[in-house]
Amino acid sequence: MEPYAFFKGQYMPLKDAKIGILTQALHYGTACFGGIRANWDAEKQQFCIFRMKDHYRRQLDACKILNICLPYDENDMAEFTVETVRRAGFKENVYCRPLAYKSSEAIGVKLHGLEDDFFVIATTLGPYLGTGGIKCCTSSWRRVSDSQISPRGKITGIYVNSALAKTDANRAGFDEAIMLNENGHISEGTGENIFVVIKGQLITPPSYDSILLGITRDTVMQLAKNELGIETVERSIDRSELYVADEAFFTGTATNVAAISSVDHRNIGSGEMGPLTTKLQALFNQAALGRNPKYSEWYTFLKYD
Ligand code: PMP
Repeated sequence: MEPYAFFKGQYMPLKDAKIGILTQALHYGTACFGGIRANWDAEKQQFCIFRMKDHYRRQLDACKILNICLPYDENDMAEFTVETVRRAGFKENVYCRPLAYKSSEAIGVKLHGLEDDFFVIATTLGPYLGTGGIKCCTSSWRRVSDSQISPRGKITGIYVNSALAKTDANRAGFDEAIMLNENGHISEGTGENIFVVIKGQLITPPSYDSILLGITRDTVMQLAKNELGIETVERSIDRSELYVADEAFFTGTATNVAAISSVDHRNIGSGEMGPLTTKLQALFNQAALGRNPKYSEWYTFLKYD
């Protein structure tokens, strides 16, 4: 049992996978990553790898933006991931981290005329933000927009924007930062999408408010609609609307569904996890283990021999 990698076309323990220090992506942020959960179902002794091909489709879109050409499609990437998880040998939740990157060892800021490569790591990851009671602040850093670096993909360079906001928030005693876009509307957390509940309406920022189109966001929207009959409203949200929201929560692969308890020292609702967040969290947790048969296209099950 150890973290494993598919790297340069081979499977190996993570500790043996190394890149050269002149690798272009390391210097200029010219890579895009993913985050995929293989959720361990102790009862059934199997993993449910959640919406893996959707994650890879989004990563391949980001590759297109970055002019990264891989000799793989989402089916190949899924196959490498399953095998990497299997070889890692864990019997607990596994986090898969694929990266597509400019692999040439060369100096020069550009996207063209360089070699590209892909690897995926299977490792363990503890709770990212917990399951409730997240204390947030509004960041003074604005979320980058599509006219700067596209937030549509998980482009590594863009995460400097997130890291600046996250560190400021943590050093000021908050768990997470909420970023506004250039127009002052709520965009998202540093690594998660945001939803609010206001007067019974479930609302989330739209694609044009500088968000990553999260797969957990989409999952929650589908669960709300199909299981609870609630249509999510995608519209711009003002900062002060967040202060008066009845509920607010984050969604993301690392975070799952997690309640926000306060923003800028103002409690959201009572400060406790609200009823809709509680329901959606339970529905999501059930789906993430592959236990809702309605969504079989979301699941890739893996059992040890
Ligand atoms: N926004 C950002 C900036 C992210 O990095 C992530 C993923 N970590 C998300 C939202 C959530 O996306 P997903 O649900 O696809 O993991």
